[in-house]
Amino acid sequence: MLYQRSSQLFAEAEKVIPGGVNSPVRAFRAVGGTPIFIKEANGPYLYDEDGNRFIDYINSWGPMILGHAYEPVVNAVIERAKKGTSFGAPTALETEIAALAVAMVPNIDKIRFVNSGTEACMSAVRLARGFTGREKIIKFAGCYHGHSDSFLIQAGSGAVTFGTPNSPGVTQGTAKDTLLATYNDLDNIKELFAANLNDIAAIIIEPVAGNMGCVPPAKGFLQALREICDVNGALLIFDEVMTGFRLAKGGAQELYGIKADIVAYGKVIGGGLPVGAFAARNEIMNYLAPIGPVYQAGTLSGNPLAMAAGLEMLKALNNDAAIFTRLEEKTAYLEAGIRKILDDAAIAYTINRVGSMISVHFDASPVTDFKSAAKGDNETFKKFFHGLLNEGVYIAPSAYETWFITDALTYDDLDFTLSAIQKVAATL
Ligand SMILES: *Cc1c(COP(=O)(O)O)cnc(C)c1O
Repeated sequence: MLYQRSSQLFAEAEKVIPGGVNSPVRAFRAVGGTPIFIKEANGPYLYDEDGNRFIDYINSWGPMILGHAYEPVVNAVIERAKKGTSFGAPTALETEIAALAVAMVPNIDKIRFVNSGTEACMSAVRLARGFTGREKIIKFAGCYHGHSDSFLIQAGSGAVTFGTPNSPGVTQGTAKDTLLATYNDLDNIKELFAANLNDIAAIIIEPVAGNMGCVPPAKGFLQALREICDVNGALLIFDEVMTGFRLAKGGAQELYGIKADIVAYGKVIGGGLPVGAFAARNEIMNYLAPIGPVYQAGTLSGNPLAMAAGLEMLKALNNDAAIFTRLEEKTAYLEAGIRKILDDAAIAYTINRVGSMISVHFDASPVTDFKSAAKGDNETFKKFFHGLLNEGVYIAPSAYETWFITDALTYDDLDFTLSAIQKVAATL
């Protein structure tokens, strides 16, 4: 495959955009080479500027769960755009999508829309601090909650890939209020609570981690966090930016039967437009401005184009009873195929999967937290990545990323992918 035009476009981009990209992980620095520039996309396929076709396993890092250029979303955006693209005043559309989201997700009464997952998590934490009157939060190493200051402490994927686990520009003052814990380690959480009695506002967690590869919660782990929070008067924040509307209609809360106090959304909820949201029961949400003391705002929040796209996406997921089963089956098929290939080729690996989130780690020992995720053989991953790219299969350019399966994939696409993996495995 040739990437001439992409290379040329990247060189031009580097002159005017830091690193040539508007989000670091796009830059291929963890795997070497230069990024492909996308011209268009349809269903499960991406087409680059050189005319190459790729089966897409990134899907905009999650949002395109029904495939690219999904017609109802595209049409809704076009129709809304003709009527004006932003008003800075309320619209009926916002209530419509809010009501649908509240109906789909268990345990929430109200939801507020923002413009990104970062904003959603940042606002959720401010709300938790305001509500509890406490300052410290617990986050897990390897979990990513967006790039706001308090989260850039061992933040998984992008931050890790680029060797800046603690970013310059984050003050000591901010960092000291973020306590770092080990994923799936309850004793660690108990110690942190014991050492910071009555100071912890919230635990924030990806209920299924997706930013150190896919790392599922150990059996009983989320329930135990729920109980520890209750005993200590802290809130449990589920960052469902990745898992929300992907693992089930009601996300990880529904899948595991655990009630979070505040839930953050992003990615799928915007149907491919910039949308995030956070939600909770009335008691907590009524703490927000303009009815409560915790301030939060946004000029473009609830933007009509974004809401139109999100609404069509949620409707499609809500109206298709079999969607999450279908996604599960397709991903399980892919998993079984990859296992067979890697077993036959005697390559050491671990595959983690929950529903349509899956990741391949090139190390035989279980991947249960950030430390074990970091043990994977990055040299093998680089070859795997470039091999697949060359065969027309586009996975995330970092060993720390989950693959996102889209319902637009056919079994032919999955078989094409498996035969590509078979070819590449022979070269590893
Ligand atoms: C992507 C992601 C975010 C950040 O969302 P942005 O829209 O990129 O700001 C936060 N949390 C999780 C779990 C994510 O995967």
